[in-house]
Amino acid sequence: MRPEILFPLFAEIETLPGIGPRLKPLVVRLIGGEHVADLLWHLPSGIIDRRFSPPLDETIDGSIVTMDVWVERHEPPPNRRRPYRVICKTLSGTLVLSFFNARAKYLNDVLPVGEKRIVSGKVDHYRNEYQITHPDRIGTEAERAEIQTVEPVYPMSAGVTGKTLTKAMRAALQLVPELPEWHDPALVARNKWPDLASALRTIHNPEDAADLSPDHPARQRLAYDELLANQLALSLIRAKMRKLGGRVTNGAGDLRQKLAANLPFAMTGAQQRALADIYDDMASEGRMLRLLQGDVGSGKTVVALMAMLNAVECGRQAAIMAPTEILARQHFETIGPLLGQIGIKCAILTGRDKGKARKATLEGFANGDVQIAVGTHALFQDDVVFSDLAFAVVDEQHRFGVHQRLMLAGKGQAVDVLVMTATPIPRTLTLTAFGDMEVSRLDEKPPGRKPVDTRVLPIDKVDDVISGIGRAMRTGTKIYWVCPLVEDSEILDLQAAEERYRILVELFGDARVGLVHGKMKAKEKDEVMERFAHGDTSILVATTVIEVGVNVPDATIMVIEHSERFGLAQLHQLRGRIGRGDAASTCLLLYGSPLGQVSKARLKIMRETEDGFIIAEEDLKLRGAGEVLGTRQSGLQEYRLANLELHGDLLAIARDDARLIVDRDPDLQKTRGEALRLLLYLFERDEAVRYFRSG
Ligand code: ADP
Ligand code: MG
Repeated sequence: MRPEILFPLFAEIETLPGIGPRLKPLVVRLIGGEHVADLLWHLPSGIIDRRFSPPLDETIDGSIVTMDVWVERHEPPPNRRRPYRVICKTLSGTLVLSFFNARAKYLNDVLPVGEKRIVSGKVDHYRNEYQITHPDRIGTEAERAEIQTVEPVYPMSAGVTGKTLTKAMRAALQLVPELPEWHDPALVARNKWPDLASALRTIHNPEDAADLSPDHPARQRLAYDELLANQLALSLIRAKMRKLGGRVTNGAGDLRQKLAANLPFAMTGAQQRALADIYDDMASEGRMLRLLQGDVGSGKTVVALMAMLNAVECGRQAAIMAPTEILARQHFETIGPLLGQIGIKCAILTGRDKGKARKATLEGFANGDVQIAVGTHALFQDDVVFSDLAFAVVDEQHRFGVHQRLMLAGKGQAVDVLVMTATPIPRTLTLTAFGDMEVSRLDEKPPGRKPVDTRVLPIDKVDDVISGIGRAMRTGTKIYWVCPLVEDSEILDLQAAEERYRILVELFGDARVGLVHGKMKAKEKDEVMERFAHGDTSILVATTVIEVGVNVPDATIMVIEHSERFGLAQLHQLRGRIGRGDAASTCLLLYGSPLGQVSKARLKIMRETEDGFIIAEEDLKLRGAGEVLGTRQSGLQEYRLANLELHGDLLAIARDDARLIVDRDPDLQKTRGEALRLLLYLFERDEAVRYFRSG
């Protein structure tokens, strides 16, 4: 239950002045929430200073000024294309206020002839005439104090004006209660941080640009509030998982030895190190929650398989869960035969399994006949019961949330969880994304991989590229052709891909060319992928939907159109789909000209390295955290007040702070703990609170 003192901040924004039922959805979309608190987290991005009142001949064109004017006469326009003009006197000369599509009655009301008014807006001069077109503010002497101010400028979107936001914000600020301080007093004193209410007031009523700078104490405080809320929630969940206790899973090693003997390769050093970490976790009394980070092709699957066998050696079950049907099937196809060879039974469960087959699979899980389960989130369903699930692997973590991890963990008595991701997340960001997990990295590729030859070339060369792939096709090569992102719009993406598909079909025939995109049903998609992997299709045209991890070893060419529009991490992931077999592979990055400096630098990185971690670090430097973790790809929590490039140092402090808090007061019952509960509720991390309350 949310504490009462926070109720005003969780009132609907509709209760604020100026936000009615029509405007509400627009504001919600803009601020990303529907509560007063969400509005307060919508920070200004700049200021407009209306304090300036220079003589007219000293004004700079385009600058904002506030003027005392005496209205002399109105000049209605001779035709609709000309503005309505109101001629005014000022102490330093004549100022014309002009209005397009004006209503005369309204203008006569607000600017009556012979009266004095205060006007504010952007001044320009044209020949010898000074004018303000559509003044932002018009008022009487009595309203001067409201006009001649410094105004915050908010990030805006269509339909929501700055005036509306400012007005609602004023009311919202009135609702901020006095809250007890939840931060360490020494930290607050050292940084001269104001309390939360004062910090919000400062930021929403900035007096100059410095008040909005990322290192202003008010801004730092808010960023830290958010970072600590996040880190604390993660620490609490992790501590709880630990306390829940695990079981000691430490098998005799016989199955693992058999499997290793059957594999055509030896484990890399990185794989061995990761396994040592994992076996340690499994053998300990605590609950395991570990992230295995490794580039595409770094060999995560075998690591997962070995760890699962450790559980099976103890007479228990293990499960591996993938985010999509295709990936689940692919795991099943790789793992199934390997397990079969050593006499272990493995079954797959996805949303597509129905009726009798599904029932049989569930029976196998429930009576323990099936030792290893492979599936999608269908494994979460209520009627899925395991005889004794001890270990779960979650592949491609990004598509799942903390919540789902907990659900899977709830399927067994004390399930150890290994999360695997192929997204190379820079070290600084690992912390925010996975602060609740230990991390192992596969930073060494299996030997014998041929590097991918990456070339960057302008899109005008596309005809040469097409003749090149025509030749390659004749030798049995498979080709991915990835089509560009167009303005973030799936529909346009699709049109571009369809157009490319049409051209290629014309040249090579529709038996040889396939098309996959996000709008297709899973089943259709699988069929096209299947024809590409094992059938006649030689060229697969795709929007960015090609599944992470899809494995087609014969695919050795990838063409990426308008590669400059992709994120580096995305390009890296895409490129990871080739270079999986023995043959040399080529990646052609086509770009549209002219190419900007940053884009040039980014494509150069792609050409120079295949190391996902280096690419991720460089991408972060060039673009910034929000985009590296881009919501579209990652589904990771985005911060609203903190900016990781600007507040990265606070993140490390928040993590240590959170650990200390959880060590000293694991149930948040002491005085500071009570206050910290408010912080968790305030940032809607109550999942963590609920979790430790329920015991
Ligand atoms: P990931 O899931 O990390 O993308 P996979 O587990 O699919 O990578 O491994 C990619 C390929 O590398 C597979 O064909 C796998 O059999 C092979 N592989 C894994 N480990 C090794 C190794 N130590 N030596 C050689 N090949 C390996
Ligand atoms: Mg994989």
